[in-house]
Amino acid sequence: MPSDQIRHVRLSSVVLPLDQPISDAKVLTGRQKPMTEIVFLFAEIATADDQHGIGFSYSKRAGGPAQYAHAKEVAANLVGEDPSDIGKVYDKLLWAGASVGRSGVATQAIAAIDIALWDLKAKRARLPLAKLFGAHRDSVRAYNTSGGFLHAPIEEVKERASKSLADGIGGIKIKVGQPDTRIDLDRVRAVREHLGDDVPLMVDANQQWDRPTALRFGRVLEQFDLVWIEEPLDAYDAEGHAHLAAALDTPIATGEMLSSVTEHVRLIDARAADIIQPDAPRIGGITPFLRLAALADHNGLQLAPHFAMEIHLHLAAAYPREPWVEHFEWLNPLFNERLETLDGRMLVPDRPGLGFTTSDQCAAWTVDACEFGTR
Ligand SMILES: [Mg+2]
Repeated sequence: MPSDQIRHVRLSSVVLPLDQPISDAKVLTGRQKPMTEIVFLFAEIATADDQHGIGFSYSKRAGGPAQYAHAKEVAANLVGEDPSDIGKVYDKLLWAGASVGRSGVATQAIAAIDIALWDLKAKRARLPLAKLFGAHRDSVRAYNTSGGFLHAPIEEVKERASKSLADGIGGIKIKVGQPDTRIDLDRVRAVREHLGDDVPLMVDANQQWDRPTALRFGRVLEQFDLVWIEEPLDAYDAEGHAHLAAALDTPIATGEMLSSVTEHVRLIDARAADIIQPDAPRIGGITPFLRLAALADHNGLQLAPHFAMEIHLHLAAAYPREPWVEHFEWLNPLFNERLETLDGRMLVPDRPGLGFTTSDQCAAWTVDACEFGTR
């Protein structure tokens, strides 16, 4: 078999337990239960000359088994294909599952495979992924999210914020969107006073305000000089976001819940956000993310990708406008390597590809796996 053929594909479903149940505003408004685990779909691809690529997709609360099942149905199409022809392979996988659409679970299943193909391509080029894309920088401004959730008492939020800054992270995001905005206001004020005026601070309402609340409370929040207000409204309310973005000085950020480029285009066309927050695993992988990033830059938007810093650090480093990357330590146990933060920024690793190998712990948390081709 020539060296430029996919020889073997392994898919696995991995359940990552979280240290404590996590609550954002969706839990406080009764729409969701606290999150206790995250389910990952890993794809590992090997070529005939024994080069390897690894990618992952994920789901929170539900959808993990569906992503795994869909990937399992389409993955046999990969064997024998040239792994460098990512566009062709991506289309082949899309058409294989065309009857269930080009968004959501179907493309999130393909995302793990697509990311593995990009990892493989960068490894073969002996380049970090950011450099394969064409990097604009070798580090990206980083802010922490994991310390600012609503299950944490405010004293804990302040302690975690101080630790993040001491660890070299540059900004702090806290959750808001509680039914009583006065409680949100007290928490934002407490954190702003704790941090002082110079530390970048963001808030995230996780879609839990209605239009009047978002406008009225958004005006109250102007005094805190926030970097952005995230997901003030329902993720699909492009018109409402556009009105808010026009009415407030504080920039509006959204996009993490959208599951395709097409859905993001609606936001962009409506001028709904100042900062776009795509999530590569959620919108179908790196291939669609690159298309969206080109469109976002063309429209003058800032970029702050959602979650999965292990992937998004590379994509943010290749975005023309100075972006942000979101820091969560939650995925650390899955991998042997760690990302470094220094002077407020996350450093792009000099290892080829994404720069990660899965840990023994990741293997121990594997609940299902299947293989295609020959080992
Ligand atoms: Mg968010």
